[in-house]
Amino acid sequence: MSFSDMPVDVGPVYEGERIRANQMYVELGGPKMEKHFELVRVKNPKDIKDGQVKLIGPDIKDMKEGSTHPIGIFIEVAGPELEEDLEAVFERRVHEFCNFVNGIMHLNQRYTNWMRISKAAVEKGFNSFQMLGTILIRLYKAELPIIKQAQVTIYTDPKEIEKPYEMAMEIYSKRDERARTIHDEDVDMYYGCVLCQSFAPTHACCITPDRTSLCGSINWFDARAAAKVDPKGPLFEVPPGECLNREAGEFSGINEMIKKRSLGEINKIFLYSGMEYPHTSCGCFEAIDFFIPEVNGYGIVDRNYDDVAINGLPFSAMANQTGGGKQMPGFNGISIQYIISPKFQQYDGGIETVVWMPKAVKDRVAEFLPPDLVPKIATEEEVKDLNKLKDWLKEHDHPVVKTWTELEAEEEEEAEYEAEGAMVPMGTVGMTIPGVGGAGGFKIILKNCKIHAESIIIKKIEPKGRK
Ligand code: SF4
Repeated sequence: MSFSDMPVDVGPVYEGERIRANQMYVELGGPKMEKHFELVRVKNPKDIKDGQVKLIGPDIKDMKEGSTHPIGIFIEVAGPELEEDLEAVFERRVHEFCNFVNGIMHLNQRYTNWMRISKAAVEKGFNSFQMLGTILIRLYKAELPIIKQAQVTIYTDPKEIEKPYEMAMEIYSKRDERARTIHDEDVDMYYGCVLCQSFAPTHACCITPDRTSLCGSINWFDARAAAKVDPKGPLFEVPPGECLNREAGEFSGINEMIKKRSLGEINKIFLYSGMEYPHTSCGCFEAIDFFIPEVNGYGIVDRNYDDVAINGLPFSAMANQTGGGKQMPGFNGISIQYIISPKFQQYDGGIETVVWMPKAVKDRVAEFLPPDLVPKIATEEEVKDLNKLKDWLKEHDHPVVKTWTELEAEEEEEAEYEAEGAMVPMGTVGMTIPGVGGAGGFKIILKNCKIHAESIIIKKIEPKGRK
C-alpha cells in the first residue's frame, strides 16, 4: 500500500496529532454541528463500486478558512467472510484511519464525530475529500484483509446529510436495542479492546453484555464478531474466570487482562463501580459519571452538552480529569447505553444515586429507567447549580435524600469520637478545609480509606512578596 500520490504523509505515527483552533483550516462535525455521523455497512459485492469516492456537498477547497461544516462518512464494504456484526467494529476504525493522515485530527465516533483539517495540510495540497476517501479505502483493505471491496460517500451539504444521518441514527439504535437483550450472567466470555492505547497506553476496555464499551460504539455482539475473525487483533476474548465480587463486578480474568494490557499499571477493576477500582477511561467516552459530594449522589454529563454541568465544570474540564487510561474514582467515562444497564454502578448504589443529567441525555434514557425515578432526576432546565440542587432533591423526594441523615449521623458520631481524642477508621467522610480555595474551602471525600501518618503539617503559603 502506497500513499506516494498523496500530498501529505499517512501512517500510525500521526495518531495523536492535535490541531488547535489557530492551526485548523476547517472543522467538520463536532459540538457546533447538529447532524453529523460516520457509518460502515456490509453490502453485497454487486452493490459496490470498489474504490469509488463520492462527495455530496462542498469540497475542502470550496470551504472558507476557519469555517465549520457537517460531515457524514458512509463506508460500504463487501467480502465473502463479512457479517453485519462486524460493522460497528469496522466503523470504530474510521477514528484510527483518519488520524493516520498528517494534518487530520479525528475525535469521537458515531454521531459525535469531530474532525479538523490543518492549514499546513491544505497548503501542501490536501484540499479534497476525494483524497480522504481514497486513503480510507486503501487503509480498510490493507489493514482488514477480509474487506475485499469498499466505497466511500462523504456528505458535507447540510440538507443532503439529513437523510443518511437519520438512517445512521436508526442503525445505531438497532445495535443498542440488540445489546439490551442479554446480560453479563447469560454469557461465559467477555471481550477486551485496546484500540485506544495509542492515546491512553494503560487503557483497555472490558466489553460485557451489560457494559457496552465506553465509546458507545462496540457492544458485546460486535466485540465477539471482531474477536472471532481476528483473534490476535485489537479486540480479543477475555475469559471472566472466577467471580471475586458479584456486586462490584470483579472477575479474576478481567483483573489478569487489565494487569497485562496496562503493563502492570492497573491491577484490578470493578466493572460496576465508579468509585472503587473503576474501569479505566481513555478519552473517547460518550459521557462522564461524576460524584457530587454535596448531595452524596452522581451526575452524568455527555460530550454534546456545551454548558457547565451541575458541579460548575464543563465536560472538557472533567474529561481531562477522567481520561488518559487512569483509574479516577469519582470520574468515570461511560457509554450512554451503560446508564440503562441494570448493572449501572450497582456497587455505588446504582441508578438511584443519579441526581442530575442534561435533558438531552434524560430524554434518550428515560423510557428505560425506573418510572418513579425519572421525575426525581434534575436536568439543566430545573436546576443549574449545586446550591439549589439539595432543595430540589428534597422537594422531589429523591432516594439519595435518605442517605443524608445516615451521613449526618455518621459525621456527628465521628465528631464525638474526635472530641474524645479517639482515632477512628474512616468510611465515607467529607472534610472541609476552611480558607483554602476561596471563602467556602473545598471538600475532600475519602471513601473506605485508611490513612496513617506520624504527623500532618498544614502550612499557610503567603503570596510572593508578603513576609
Ligand atoms: S473506547 Fe474502548 S472499545 Fe471503544 S475503541 Fe477505545 S478501547 Fe475500543
